[in-house]
Amino acid sequence: METRLLTVKINGRDYQVPEGISILKAARDYAGINVPTLCYLEGISEEGACALCVVEVKGARNLQRACVVKVAEGMEVLTSTPRVRDARKLNMELLLANHPKDCFTCDKSEICELRGLAADLGVREVEFTRTRKEWLPFDETSLSLVRDPNKCVLCRRCISVCAKIQSVNAIDVVGRSSDSAVSTFFNAGLGNVECVNCGQCLQVCPTGAITERDEIPMVWKALGDADKVVVVQTAPAVRVAIGEEFGMPGGTQATGKMAAALRRMGFAKVFDTDFTADLTIMEEGYELIGRLKNGGTLPLITSCSPGWVKFAETFFPKVLDHVSSCKSPQQMFGTVTKTYWAEKMGIDPRKVVVVSIMPCTAKKFEKERPEMKSAFHYWKDKMGLRDDEVFNDVDYVLTTREAAQMIREAGLDFVHLPDEDFDKPLGESTGAAVIFGATGGVMEAALRTAYEVVTGKTLAKLDFMDVRGLEGIKATDVDLDGTTLKVAVANGLGNARVLMEQIERGESPYHFIEIMCCPGGCLGGGGQPISHDPDIKKKRASAIYREDAGKPIRKSHENSEVQQIYKEFFGEPNSEKAHHLLHTEYCDRSCK
Ligand code: SF4
Ligand code: SF4
Ligand code: SF4
Repeated sequence: METRLLTVKINGRDYQVPEGISILKAARDYAGINVPTLCYLEGISEEGACALCVVEVKGARNLQRACVVKVAEGMEVLTSTPRVRDARKLNMELLLANHPKDCFTCDKSEICELRGLAADLGVREVEFTRTRKEWLPFDETSLSLVRDPNKCVLCRRCISVCAKIQSVNAIDVVGRSSDSAVSTFFNAGLGNVECVNCGQCLQVCPTGAITERDEIPMVWKALGDADKVVVVQTAPAVRVAIGEEFGMPGGTQATGKMAAALRRMGFAKVFDTDFTADLTIMEEGYELIGRLKNGGTLPLITSCSPGWVKFAETFFPKVLDHVSSCKSPQQMFGTVTKTYWAEKMGIDPRKVVVVSIMPCTAKKFEKERPEMKSAFHYWKDKMGLRDDEVFNDVDYVLTTREAAQMIREAGLDFVHLPDEDFDKPLGESTGAAVIFGATGGVMEAALRTAYEVVTGKTLAKLDFMDVRGLEGIKATDVDLDGTTLKVAVANGLGNARVLMEQIERGESPYHFIEIMCCPGGCLGGGGQPISHDPDIKKKRASAIYREDAGKPIRKSHENSEVQQIYKEFFGEPNSEKAHHLLHTEYCDRSCK
């Protein structure tokens, strides 16, 4: 059915707008007027919590919240009268009265929507005094995020994203009136509830109330330690987003500049997580083929997204046997660096410090999982290491934003750096690995390899267009030379939940499923630059597929360094040694 168009007068001009939309959307999309708001997120958070979007509507006595009131035929709206401007300023001053005044040192200072809107509204002083008696304690229980409730303006965006997009419901408003605050069940802290560390709440928070756990000081300290060999790995989605932090347009491929910057900051080796993305495809691809041949548990589900893995452990513990036992590429990389590479280079693994640059806040949690110490166990007997010498496979995880901050602190002119390559070995990668950064990418990479391994034939067309794009759930059939493989791809945990409930009911028609925790996959990860461009995910995705198309090798099993590591170290995919070092296990978190 066609949507009826209504005539609405906004600031004296007539506009034809679709029935059913809010005044805010009509003003923004049809009249080009940016009605201020801190809480509105189209389709996700439309509760009118901040009251900054008030407008006058002819015939209504009170000012109306533009984000919740729908347009009506013949409606006359005024968005910038003295009454409207005064009310918005007043509401903003009320918000600022209780807000800490530490903008100089706030992590979100440069991109804070609250600060920007206060300036736009012309707020130059705050006449109200603070109504809250005490400062609230920080929530530092999470390994990924830190919450400062004092900076919270109760816009509820985080609550909406966590509930509606991720279907986790880890946070809500607790308390009444002036004691209200966003918190967790029983105020237990993010680290002690169902939170999966995805950082999607951080992405939408308009203030500095949610930030990532800062690991920058530890990385600078390691880089300054002459006794350490500090190496860095960078995930696929970082290279297509980090440029945004330096004013480059969305979708800029900054791979070479990123490698150059990291080398100039003092990293001994600049490696590429894409190498272990290719290794993941070998391990996961052979795991799938094994399960198909031997009647194993199907569908097999990918395991490279730690936010998704924690979600499965928390909400679907009974069907964890569907999740691939492969570690994520980040964790495979840490293990390979501290075993294969350290051995090959003759370096004491205790001296090696592995820093990851990830689009992801959940990877800060993942590196601390007790299972992620495989390299220590590998060396323990060989070197006679004591238990108190235990070390993690990955030492520090920086988000894309933190990496950019370090580049700024180092005084590097990122935009004008010459392009440089990754170091080798552990620096070669294929197009299949690059596309891990976009939803559908792991599936496409796996299909490129699975087809050739299963059929023994060369794949004529490498691009699997049916699994590309930002749609929440994609499904298709793939013909493996007469055998049909039914596959599905989900991004965002609300969509993952749909596929998981199918599995729990025993109704899943699929053989292989890719799940990524974040909307859009890692390119929309919680650690990525915060952007207000509605097309930013599409731009980052197109940069990822450009990078893939430009690679001389586009299939994981053709990566010569991957072939070499099997020859020199692991033997073959899914070998006992590979299982020991590259695979992991999961735990039931449903009652924790
Ligand atoms: S990190 Fe993710 S799961 Fe945790 S509170 Fe934020 S949105 Fe919810
Ligand atoms: S923490 Fe941030 S996103 Fe959540 S309600 Fe407070 S200000 Fe809004
Ligand atoms: S989708 Fe990517 S960024 Fe998001 S939790 Fe998973 S690995 Fe991290």
